[in-house]
Amino acid sequence: MRVELLTVGDELLLGDTVNGNAAWLGRRLADHGVAVTRSTVVGDRLDVIVEAVTEALGRADAVITTGGLGPTGDDVTRDALAKAAGVALVRDPELERRLRERVAAAGRGLRPMALRMADVPEGAGLLADSAGGAPGLRVRLPGGTVYALPGVPAEMRTIMEEVVLPELADAARSRDGGPAVARRLLRTAGIWESELATALAPVEALDGVALAYLPDPAEVRVRLTAAPDRLDDVERRARELLGPDAVYGTDEETLDKVVHRLLAERSATVATAESLTGGLIGAELTRMPGSSATYAGGMVAYSTALKEKMLGVPADLLARHGAVHPDVAAAMAAGVRERLGATYGVAVTGVAGPDPQDGRPVGTVFVGVSGPEGSPVVVEPRLPVPGTGAVARGIIRRMTVVHALELLRR
Ligand code: ATP
Ligand code: MG
Repeated sequence: MRVELLTVGDELLLGDTVNGNAAWLGRRLADHGVAVTRSTVVGDRLDVIVEAVTEALGRADAVITTGGLGPTGDDVTRDALAKAAGVALVRDPELERRLRERVAAAGRGLRPMALRMADVPEGAGLLADSAGGAPGLRVRLPGGTVYALPGVPAEMRTIMEEVVLPELADAARSRDGGPAVARRLLRTAGIWESELATALAPVEALDGVALAYLPDPAEVRVRLTAAPDRLDDVERRARELLGPDAVYGTDEETLDKVVHRLLAERSATVATAESLTGGLIGAELTRMPGSSATYAGGMVAYSTALKEKMLGVPADLLARHGAVHPDVAAAMAAGVRERLGATYGVAVTGVAGPDPQDGRPVGTVFVGVSGPEGSPVVVEPRLPVPGTGAVARGIIRRMTVVHALELLRR
């Protein structure tokens, strides 16, 4: 069973809209064991859409299109499907009635142009009448089926979830006969993709198991794919190979959620002292609803002077080593913990660039955590410095956030 995506819209080609529909569709179809074999983007042009649909059905069993079902002149997907099918566009009386009803209910007059939304290629089926928008269409062509969905992401998703995904998942199962597959994401932080791949080579070599590495700054998600009854075993084997603490969560368990849960289990709180991240760690720790139970608050001590004034980092330490030093990270963590009365303090200091600071190169970062027992723990994460300039700066800051949460977790 092969499915292709065809996302339609000039805004996608021009870069005004990010193609979130294609990303979402790929993910959800994969979740349902349906393989997307190709994804194409075209503008709002009838002849181009006709050509793309025809070509796609030469390769795949089904094509999902999004966009171009609205009432305006640039919405030409329905016309293109009629042309590809060699049939006329006909007005669907039931659709017209519903359209008139909706417009009347809103106290508006129906513009003739809007009636285009009641036109369907002859013989096409309606998928669902999404709230206020265009209905999705199912058009059967000699080469396969086209599912035409609105471009508006929420409407598209509703029709997919309710109608198209179950239909395609059933078709894939009955056609391919083979066992269904299941997928799981293992989330790691601070471990390089190459290290993970080396450690997991024995899992990758197992028959019927596929691994995919999905890297983000300082994080790598590893997607395991296997028969549903084997997935738990595959996960266990992967965890053994990586070591007990390497995987911080699975699937939708993001690092901020895991930290929140671990703190909540101990009735503990955390306070943040941030330099180069300028509050990003605090932002991350307040993403979850209910984070007030575990996040006390934070201080952004960006200048060296404020590290002394707000956090009590000893002046002579700062004078001797500058602000980017492991002892400064330790003192910041201990200082914020004490001053904000939290169970833990986490602190970061470093050089986001583009210029070196206090004789330290770009990408030098120290992360400190201070807890109720012992002296603060400080690590210097190995950041693979991603080039130079503004992009590097953003990535270094993001990697620092991840390393801070990861140290806190451990
Ligand atoms: P409607 O029938 O509701 O008018 P439509 O099928 O005509 O929808 P478009 O006009 O192409 O859809 O797009 C509607 C909105 O959806 C736009 O704001 C557009 O930016 C957004 N959109 C369209 N395609 C995508 C896509 N591939 N990814 C994310 N957003 C998209
Ligand atoms: Mg459009």
